[in-house]
Amino acid sequence: MNYGINIWGNDNYIIEDGKLKLNTLSKPALVDIVKDIREKGHTGPLLFRFPHLIKKQINLVYNYFGRAIKEFEYKGKFQALYPLKVNQFPNFVKNIVELGKEYNYGLEAGSKAELLLAMSYNNPKAPITVNGFKDKEMIALGFIASEMGYNITLTIEGLNELKTIIETSKKRFGCVPNIGLRVRLHSVGAGAWAKSGGINSKFGLTSTELISAVKLLEENSLIEKFSMIHFHIGSQITEIPPVKKALREAGNIYAELKKLGAVNLSSINLGGGLAIEYSAHENMLFRNYTLSEYTNDVVYLLKEIALKKDVSEPDIFIESGRYIAAHHAVLVAPVLELFSGEYSQIKLIKKDNPPLIQELYDLYSTINKNNALEFLHDSIDHMESLLTLFDLGYIDLQDRSNTEVLVNLIIKKAVILLKDKHYKELISIQERVQERYLVNFSIFQSMPDFWGLNQHFPIMPLDKLDEKPTRAASIWDITCDSDGEIGFNPKNPLFLHDVYLSRDDYFLGFFLVGAYQEVLGMKHNLFTHPTEVTINITKTGYDIENLIEAQSICDIFEDLDYNIDEIKNNLKSKIQNSKLIDIDTKKHIIKEVDILLNDNGYLKNEEYR
Ligand SMILES: *Cc1c(COP(=O)(O)O)cnc(C)c1O
Repeated sequence: MNYGINIWGNDNYIIEDGKLKLNTLSKPALVDIVKDIREKGHTGPLLFRFPHLIKKQINLVYNYFGRAIKEFEYKGKFQALYPLKVNQFPNFVKNIVELGKEYNYGLEAGSKAELLLAMSYNNPKAPITVNGFKDKEMIALGFIASEMGYNITLTIEGLNELKTIIETSKKRFGCVPNIGLRVRLHSVGAGAWAKSGGINSKFGLTSTELISAVKLLEENSLIEKFSMIHFHIGSQITEIPPVKKALREAGNIYAELKKLGAVNLSSINLGGGLAIEYSAHENMLFRNYTLSEYTNDVVYLLKEIALKKDVSEPDIFIESGRYIAAHHAVLVAPVLELFSGEYSQIKLIKKDNPPLIQELYDLYSTINKNNALEFLHDSIDHMESLLTLFDLGYIDLQDRSNTEVLVNLIIKKAVILLKDKHYKELISIQERVQERYLVNFSIFQSMPDFWGLNQHFPIMPLDKLDEKPTRAASIWDITCDSDGEIGFNPKNPLFLHDVYLSRDDYFLGFFLVGAYQEVLGMKHNLFTHPTEVTINITKTGYDIENLIEAQSICDIFEDLDYNIDEIKNNLKSKIQNSKLIDIDTKKHIIKEVDILLNDNGYLKNEEYR
């Protein structure tokens, strides 16, 4: 059982000695890194960042585009930019700027805040593109970036923005940024995020507006600054046909605009959309193309259009975020409790048991490989009947408890006996007897797209991988929201191990959470971004760097604009005024509360792992 790492894992992991290890020279096991960090006193959920996995994705994109450009003798250049909206956390952004240096990897900004980040961190020669709606201030900021020496392109989303650029260029004496036009495509992407493309899209200029834009640029002597057209048909585009359709449309618009007099138009920016595989099961893949196919199609199609329309082959810009960022982060969280009970045996206490209970007991005692499936069915039938009998008042609570334990034990036995047979049927039976794993994390904070979009993320234990997992698992987070659950899904089943938490820790890894999840994460129930660490792989092991402890409860209150002194004083005076305890105890309690306020809110005592 490898939990699909051959499907979603990108060769980043291997399983050895029952442990999940990073597929690097030193092969550290994730569970050992977790234990290492927890020994330093950091419990609760941990977010790992692996810079080597950022570098790998950057290399992949450059290598495959490079290969396609060579194969088709394409004359344009390739350039990638990282869209900041995908993950703006400092230990990601600083890493990507550093790791992308050799490629002049650029940054894409979609707001004033992101633009200021780009201006502050981007490599000096690397490009910046600015998309999204812009006011006067944001356009002025673009001019300032240009005056600082950056190669910056402001992509226009509407004619009014262009008019503001023209006005600004008359007021400022320094450099004018490059101008890009976002084109409104007729074609639409596929998938949950497809709203960014299409004729009714929120973004981009229609053909009529494009013609007016070129005219405006010419009249104001800015046509030489117009260098790029841009489109973005949506994120996680799962099929190649919409990409090809969009490229044909954009390629022809590029050629037509050049013919209209856009003398310096030299680039097409394809935006993002490059998909990654989130699936852990071969029979339900989420993406049906490879990077090689994508890059070949892009280069080939653009070459074909340029040839046909007799224009120069455009430089290709992409702004892939998900593809670059998703793999680098892994959330690891300890299992706190198993909910359906860790029963290992039963002895009937009563002398006289209801006949159905006695029958259940006999099933449990005599189940074997040949009768297992039949006995399993019988036991579930009996359980239904016994539960009805309880509702009608014919059996008591002890009988009901015996039913629970016996059926649970029979299923456990059957699952082991039927290990390799009747797999499908077992799954559908197990759906009714899921084991609930309570896990120390918040789905709303760490996997908001699961909650909001039903996005699937690979989940697996970090060790015990040499034992067959037999429990149909549903995952509960520690928020008190019933949506904070990843239920067992027979189409996409997750099986976990029988664990005895009083003896062993059991950690789950949640993978591919490096794109979008961190910044979309919600403070539902006031759980914050978990403690994060950057793990740098070395020849002999790994270094733990940039450990940032999760925000304290005080910090969260401050984020919500509470006055923290007011809260502290309220608590203190209420303790001091209590008539139930003596002065010494009061002092002690005040200290206790203060420690709690300055700690993070995840469950973190010894007994709560
Ligand atoms: C969101 C966005 C991207 C990134 O998309 P991914 O699917 O994450 O690659 C790129 N460009 C623009 C304009 C965007 O809005």
